[in-house]
Amino acid sequence: MRSGYDEPMEGSSSAAFEALNWEIDVCHLCQLSGTRTLAVPGDGSHSAELMFIGEGPGFHEDRQGRPFVGAAGSFLTELLTLIGLSREQVFITNVVKCRPPGNRDPLPLELAACRPYLDRQIEMIDPRVIVTLGRHSLGTFFPGEVISRIHGTIRTNGGRHFFPMYHPAAALHQPKYRETIMDDMRKLGLWLHERERLEKHTAEAQLTLLDTMRAPAAVERDQAATQLSLFDQST
Ligand code: URA
Repeated sequence: MRSGYDEPMEGSSSAAFEALNWEIDVCHLCQLSGTRTLAVPGDGSHSAELMFIGEGPGFHEDRQGRPFVGAAGSFLTELLTLIGLSREQVFITNVVKCRPPGNRDPLPLELAACRPYLDRQIEMIDPRVIVTLGRHSLGTFFPGEVISRIHGTIRTNGGRHFFPMYHPAAALHQPKYRETIMDDMRKLGLWLHERERLEKHTAEAQLTLLDTMRAPAAVERDQAATQLSLFDQST
């Protein structure tokens, strides 16, 4: 059993997450259940603004039942600090929840079997942005898209925002990707910051508009108050 599994987390119903995690833990919908040590449902904040979706558990993740705990995970944690976030503030999961033997690519049948779990996690967390890590995660939402063409840009699909990135493990195998991945993370940070600023601005503009719309009523109220006070004086 993974440690800290039952720790309460904020956000939408912990019971719903526990139920889903349990379904994943005992899942036998594909052959990966036969070779896994532990399923890896994912972890982090249940009300996360950012949801990171990788490919599938590796050796260490399979042993610990937690996503991104190996070398790629350390780099992911480092990337998060670039935008002032910790792992506890985001949600991290994978397109397949059980380790493909020898870290091979997940097969179409395995991806399809696991997809409903991912869709339910997305629905429950309702993140502001989904960050796809690597081509398998990208291909889940944008089939046929090429990561080298669209990494580091915001995309929308089905009313959701996506931000495709190279997989952090790419930087471990080919150091030239390290800067690109870090730059993309900084871009995401800027986008989030700008988005927040615009939302605040819009909220303020709406309040001003509401005040303007409220004005005639306020004027009438003032007039009524004046009339009342006149009346008071005459009695
Ligand atoms: N790589 C992934 O895609 N996911 C993990 O959880 C770990 C490594």
